[in-house]
Amino acid sequence: MAKVKLVATLGPSSWSEETMKRMVAEGVNAFRLNFSHVDYARFEELAKQVRRLETPLRPLTLIADLQGPVIRLGEFAPFQVRPGDRVTFTLSSKTEEKYAVPVPNGVFFEIVREGDEVLVEGGRLAFRIVDAGPEKAVGEALLEGEVKPRKTVTVRGKDIPLPTITEKDLRDIEFSVKAGFDAIALSFVRSSSDVQRLRDILFDYGAEDVKIIAKIETKSAVEDLDSILQKSDAALVARGDLANFYGLEEIYSIQRYIISRARRFGKPSIVATQLLESMISNPLPTRSEVVDVITAVRMGADALLLAGETAAGKYPVESVYWLRRIVEEAEREPLEVEDVAPDKSDLYESIAKGVVSLAEVISGKIIAFSEKGNTARRISKFRPKAGLIVFTNDPATARYVNMIYGVRVVYDPSLSKADQNLFSKMLSKALEHNLVNLGDLVVFTSGRRRGSTDLVSVERVKSE
Ligand code: PGA
Ligand code: MN
Repeated sequence: MAKVKLVATLGPSSWSEETMKRMVAEGVNAFRLNFSHVDYARFEELAKQVRRLETPLRPLTLIADLQGPVIRLGEFAPFQVRPGDRVTFTLSSKTEEKYAVPVPNGVFFEIVREGDEVLVEGGRLAFRIVDAGPEKAVGEALLEGEVKPRKTVTVRGKDIPLPTITEKDLRDIEFSVKAGFDAIALSFVRSSSDVQRLRDILFDYGAEDVKIIAKIETKSAVEDLDSILQKSDAALVARGDLANFYGLEEIYSIQRYIISRARRFGKPSIVATQLLESMISNPLPTRSEVVDVITAVRMGADALLLAGETAAGKYPVESVYWLRRIVEEAEREPLEVEDVAPDKSDLYESIAKGVVSLAEVISGKIIAFSEKGNTARRISKFRPKAGLIVFTNDPATARYVNMIYGVRVVYDPSLSKADQNLFSKMLSKALEHNLVNLGDLVVFTSGRRRGSTDLVSVERVKSE
């Protein structure tokens, strides 16, 4: 099994039970549903299907990805533009005027200024603004293509001054909690207070166990990254929208920066968008996609996310197959991720670092018990070379640590932290599941109090 975790987006191409089953067999650890195209009845059914495919040794994490604040074009007949053509963005929901593009949201006209670059459909079309007024903005096309109704529109480098969590998102959060989703991906996060807001909403629903994945896809989020990471359970490198805020050529260094900061805070990072884009229509990835996936793995990402490849493409199962195959190839050589120091203010992190060093010195495997995922995060942060087996008795924790690099999860409700024989019970279960072999050295760890990592013990696996 790959150490980097694989996330697949479900969509029309993949939402049959058979296809999902095959994707799991190919190594998928988590499924994401995109709430930009929400269908409650179907999503509820899919959530149940995911649960049916789950086993105690193969948890499946279910992620609800909120739409967040987006502005979409209104209704008009599609038309073709070539570089230099002028179009007029007008404040209205519908128009029949030639070369007029309706934008039914005044906020767009509040932020757009002369000289700005307006991006339609995630940058598939771009317009340089030559004249901007309170209800009209004239733009000159920079790229050739078809302007189509209802597509998203953004202004490069500018946040959309709408609340991060919209009315629609609120309904989608309520649905996700009820349907048993494990994590919510918060789109267009701008500051840690956005994350806190979602935390409060989840608290009000009694859903504190639902994890928050901060999608880093605005300039403000990159600038406030550390405090966002502190408040979140994971970070998603949303390369699609990031490239609309920054220049396309800046993606490499921003991706690297987010992954590295996330690891410093001991939070899993997920790299998304266009990893195997060409596989939407081809059964094989391109050479550059292979290199991109390997680059993300070697940068130290915890997880990789397929979007259109599995949601809308012709080859959802093949995409997962190739993703795993490339990841496994990348993992054949030891990772050269940067050495991170334990956080001085957290003694348990230093202990975790000690556990990883100890395991390395004695060439042993690590078996940890993690109640809420803290111990698993702390150990994974130091990227242990040998195996990291994490037992938990909490299903929410099992599905959370399942997104963390290198964690082999075992969900077992019969285990308890209070049990004097916890380590020997974990050992016999690990043997039973063939996760350790006779003769192996094992470093055990867990915490005595909630949230701690302060028990360490070493044992050689012997026959009972
Ligand atoms: P999206 O987020 O697919 O929901 O837009 C990912 C991205 O922006 O890359
Ligand atoms: Mn996005």
